[in-house]
Amino acid sequence: MSQHVVLRNAAVPRALVADAAGFGGTPRDDCLVGDLQLVAGQVAGMHPRPLPPGAEERFLRGQIVLPRLTEVHCHLDKCHTVARLAQVGGDLQAAIAAQHADKARWSQPDILRRATRGLAELQRAGVALARTHVDWEPDDVAQRRVPVAWTVLERLAHEWAGRVTLQRVALLPLEAFGDRDGAAWLARQVAASAGGVLGAFIFDQPHRRELLKTAFELATEVGVMLDFHVDEGLADTLDGLTTVCELALDWDNGQQIVCGHACRLAALDGAAATRALDLVRDAGVAIVALPTTNLYLQGRTDGTPQQRGITRLRELAERGVPLAVGSDNVCDAFCPIGAHDPLAALATAALAAHLDPPYDRWLRLVTTDARRMLGATPMYVDRAAAGDLLLVEAMHTAEVVAGAPRRPLEERRRQSAG
Ligand SMILES: [Zn+2]
Repeated sequence: MSQHVVLRNAAVPRALVADAAGFGGTPRDDCLVGDLQLVAGQVAGMHPRPLPPGAEERFLRGQIVLPRLTEVHCHLDKCHTVARLAQVGGDLQAAIAAQHADKARWSQPDILRRATRGLAELQRAGVALARTHVDWEPDDVAQRRVPVAWTVLERLAHEWAGRVTLQRVALLPLEAFGDRDGAAWLARQVAASAGGVLGAFIFDQPHRRELLKTAFELATEVGVMLDFHVDEGLADTLDGLTTVCELALDWDNGQQIVCGHACRLAALDGAAATRALDLVRDAGVAIVALPTTNLYLQGRTDGTPQQRGITRLRELAERGVPLAVGSDNVCDAFCPIGAHDPLAALATAALAAHLDPPYDRWLRLVTTDARRMLGATPMYVDRAAAGDLLLVEAMHTAEVVAGAPRRPLEERRRQSAG
């Protein structure tokens, strides 16, 4: 790429520009349009400036420019197992049972092959930063044994650095925190891993407040982030999100706490819903909506579901709660279809949760806000490097969400260290 490049007739979603006044461009719908200048590989806004000798001009036909995407929540250890599962379909418990049976096949080459496919799909979708959850069993903790999937994904994180930055969450059944010494050992393993995050599956386990408190204490001791699967169900008895938020109110270790799913919020009404939503806002906890898996598993009956199970994105957005949308399960027991593509997840959320245009603000849920939630600096278009940009064949942000073709402005290369 030349020292000075101008992309003629580019459009940039307004919500993805940090400093609109300094950026320039003409408002059109929810975008700023104009000639996007790149100087020395960095975006320099849309204010007109004389082109120096040797400058490169590219004429876009109305493409929309985005920062590269962030995948906040996927499961690269589980993905692409659907073809070999004996039993697919049913509710969350059926999915857990089917997945558990499949684990007998989780050898090192098997996980490497499937997770590599998932990473390639994320890269094709335009993702630069991804967080995968990785299952740990209570036996792993009891026997001080690192699961094969954790090691394989650590190797892949290293190999893919520079193309897709990969964070890993150790996903434990909450009861594993009952073994405090074992959990402390696990927390140290997580802290020793680049991009390691501590997590747990919070459902209806007894003593969940005490177990969560241990998770909070250990995360603080070793200095890692927390990312929980909470309330993946609609029953009144599920209070994982409320409990996490109550603990978070007393607990500021300077790290963003993330909760995925939060389906039960969808089943609350009236004052109970208002109380729960306000508590999330006050606690500063970030929420990840996972529409594909929730639509597939929640509200199961013998017929067509009446409840959607997707968390209350609109009400949370009104309160300024940090939000993101993730792909979650892809072609496994929890979701037999799906894609490693945050924009596809956002499109599903738009239909399931009634996210209306303008879409520039909702695009933050797979870009700037999603990155901030994962502890990374948000990547706005006006602060981006050329290698951080995507070009989408779209005239309107609705077409971006609808899945218009996209490609990087520049290919990212594998780092030589890989
Ligand atoms: Zn998940």
